[in-house]
Amino acid sequence: MVDSVEQGAAATDGAAVRTVLDRDIDTRAYPKYAEWRRLCEENPAMAPFVIMKLSLTCHGAVISPRAMERLQQDDYRFGTRAGEDDEANSFDIEFDGRSTTQIMPGAVVLRDGTFVYINYGETYADPYLLDYDAELGAFVLRESSEQDPAIDIVDFVPRPAIFGRRTSRGTLMDTLVDVRPQKLIFTAYRTCHFWDHREQCRFCAFFTKGHEGPAVDPEDLYETVHAALEEPGRFSELYLSGGTDYEGAEPFAREVDRYIRDLQAMGRDFPGRFPCQLMAPAYPKHLLERIYRETGITSYSADIEVWDRERFRWLCPGKERVVGHDEWIRRTVDAVEVFGHGNVYTQVVAGAELARPGGFDTVDEALASNLEACDYFAERGVNCLFIVWRPHRRSRLGWQPMAPLDYYVRLAQGFHDIRRAHGLICLDDDYKMCGNHPCADLERMDEACWS
Ligand code: SF4
Repeated sequence: MVDSVEQGAAATDGAAVRTVLDRDIDTRAYPKYAEWRRLCEENPAMAPFVIMKLSLTCHGAVISPRAMERLQQDDYRFGTRAGEDDEANSFDIEFDGRSTTQIMPGAVVLRDGTFVYINYGETYADPYLLDYDAELGAFVLRESSEQDPAIDIVDFVPRPAIFGRRTSRGTLMDTLVDVRPQKLIFTAYRTCHFWDHREQCRFCAFFTKGHEGPAVDPEDLYETVHAALEEPGRFSELYLSGGTDYEGAEPFAREVDRYIRDLQAMGRDFPGRFPCQLMAPAYPKHLLERIYRETGITSYSADIEVWDRERFRWLCPGKERVVGHDEWIRRTVDAVEVFGHGNVYTQVVAGAELARPGGFDTVDEALASNLEACDYFAERGVNCLFIVWRPHRRSRLGWQPMAPLDYYVRLAQGFHDIRRAHGLICLDDDYKMCGNHPCADLERMDEACWS
């Protein structure tokens, strides 16, 4: 990566950039960088960018004032104005330390296109610094301070053309979407009823503010999709999700009715099926058949969150009460008969299974449990992925130490290898679509993805 910083510097009119190679480096002064180098050496088959993504996710990053200033300009400004920015974060996670007059930027993009989702402004123990080098005309990653040499050139997701536009009902489109690399994420229901009776997943910090009238108007969804399609080449997949609403004539009936209305609206511009994933609870098969029949979506994700049965019951009490661990898995597998092999997904919140007081005692136990999950699902045509659990003070688990970076590196390689052995490719959740799954990022090296 460092060699490439120099290449990047050369590509910017030869402007000088100090890199970690410019001096006889004492790696003890740059422990995150040293850890990354060690992991690259220990895992030569793994893309260094994916290891850097994991390192950035685990250690976190803060943005220097000069980078923040550059990110407020039109090409990067990731919202419409201060104040509305909080609305634009559709999952409503709250952040500390961000000036209310400045707009939160989009995700970091590494030079190979790897997307890194960082909770900017969170309180990190020892975060990286995302800085801007005006002489170079580029953003750079540093160990901790503006005086540290650059580790690499980085970029941020550019501002989408729909930001600042309003629907015919006056809704700011920024407030309806979360923009991933090529995927538009809609949160159509902005509360989760598991929170009503303190049954929320213990790691969850979504929807902490609550919303009056949480359901988004389907016409707003339609108009936002329609507008997004006007930006050539920007988006290639849609995604719909929301908090859980298990009410209705049978559990989830009201939610399924609403999702069908939403998905029909989002698909109005498409003549047949359109690339779209619904991330929702594990529904019984007859409800899934209805969704597939009455909408044009191609993919479905029912997130198990935690594979181990006892820890699922502890960490996901709402899901356990309304569906149950074994039934959740059975329904997820059954969904393959509706959506097809490789078009059904699930994910675990990796690291939560190690949380105190009820989690596994060792990383090896956690790793074995999660690999078992991935293998079980892969054998049945389900893509099982993981996201990195970042403890949050507003969740029931509160602040806790994270699992070590080495754990996530092993997990990424293990998940990738299992899925590849079963001929599975995460077309709906790869680095170009969601970008939130380090294991899926590794697929770019696979021959099966080149055709
Ligand atoms: S289902 Fe669980 S993770 Fe999802 S919003 Fe509700 S409490 Fe949070």
